[in-house]
Amino acid sequence: MQDKIEEIMEAARAHKDLYEHALPMIASENITSGAVRKLLASDLSHRYAEGDVGDRFYQGCKYIDVIEGKAIEYAKELFNAEHVNVKPISGVNANIATLFALTSPGDIIMALSVPEGGHISHAKYSVPGIRNLKLHEFPFDPKEMNINVDAMVREIKEKKPKLILFGASLFLFPHPVQEARAAADEVGAKIVYDGAHVLGLIAGKRFQDPLREGADVVTSSTHKTFPGPQGAIILCKRAVKDEIDEAVFPGTVSNHHLHHVAGLAVTLVEMMQFGEEYAAQIQSNAKALAQYLYEDGFEVLCEHKGFTESHQVAVDVRSFGGGDRVAKKLENAYIIINKNMFSYDKSPEKPSGIRLGVQELTRLGMKDSEMREVASLIKRVVIRGEDEKRVKEEVIALKKDFCNVRYCFDDGNAYKNLVV
Ligand SMILES: *Cc1c(COP(=O)(O)O)cnc(C)c1O
Repeated sequence: MQDKIEEIMEAARAHKDLYEHALPMIASENITSGAVRKLLASDLSHRYAEGDVGDRFYQGCKYIDVIEGKAIEYAKELFNAEHVNVKPISGVNANIATLFALTSPGDIIMALSVPEGGHISHAKYSVPGIRNLKLHEFPFDPKEMNINVDAMVREIKEKKPKLILFGASLFLFPHPVQEARAAADEVGAKIVYDGAHVLGLIAGKRFQDPLREGADVVTSSTHKTFPGPQGAIILCKRAVKDEIDEAVFPGTVSNHHLHHVAGLAVTLVEMMQFGEEYAAQIQSNAKALAQYLYEDGFEVLCEHKGFTESHQVAVDVRSFGGGDRVAKKLENAYIIINKNMFSYDKSPEKPSGIRLGVQELTRLGMKDSEMREVASLIKRVVIRGEDEKRVKEEVIALKKDFCNVRYCFDDGNAYKNLVV
């Protein structure tokens, strides 16, 4: 039996070794500070605390109350939110709760389709389907990589949705929340903004401010550009707080993950202190990487409008064999990215593109000159077809100086102190 355990430990060690030496560029990931890692391994991970701060169904929660109370207080302050719920255990969980809270079966909602950037939880085979909603897709302009504003306003008035769901997984430019608000009011629609990818940018006052632009609810994961533990958060207007809270607990969560809530509270403090600097550096790194890849001969989307305003860069790699082939070649060189569908794609397995995220490299301290190097390493694998093993050695050499987590109070080596 011991060897079965050792096998798992060994895989975890090998995984750490891979990430210590690789360039992690999956746009939905990040790395946490030392304080957060300690909390994730703490006794909080063993406990139950159903209920609310000061009103639990279990004994032994007095310190958990302190932690959850602070997480809520800091999130209200950082995001200037009227109400906060820190219990959803993932972004999809937050979307399930919110869509169940604000719609009834048969209602019409508007959201982006998956090939146009929407998340699977916005699609008919996920939450809208389970809730029996009629899904109407936003009119999308692939050249601008954004929702077509005039057509959207027309369609809101015509279709009269109950809920308008903004936000995306391929998310280069801010969505037209402000532009939708008047039409939404006219037909009585609620606006939900799924900020899973961009919450760290919003925390740093970049990208957009959905609550000020007219969103009733913001749902989000807490581990993408927001560099916290895996989990989720809901920010909302006071007017919908009771429906939202009930749909979370007891609706769709029994025990929330208390070690993650503690890690979230710490990350909120980190973002209060360092968030603006961090978000600005992410945006500037993404633009720099896009520009260098473009100059190196890649078909980077949206050159005419500065490529991106987020942490993401989208590249059409059909001329190099498509997203699947390119992503696998880059993995051999220790550059970890994902294939991605664009609006003209039919197959999620063989899409045209790749999506690159710079948020984790930014948190590890990379700036403009490293973006130049990263672009060049990508070019050597994908365009020049150089031996991936050779490029891998240079990736490892570049990564060596970027193993400390920045924008936090305990800038330590992210890999050295891990048990595995
Ligand atoms: C990643 C993502 C989610 C889901 O988040 P999980 O935390 O993985 O459940 C929801 N919405 C969007 C737009 C996303 O990109």
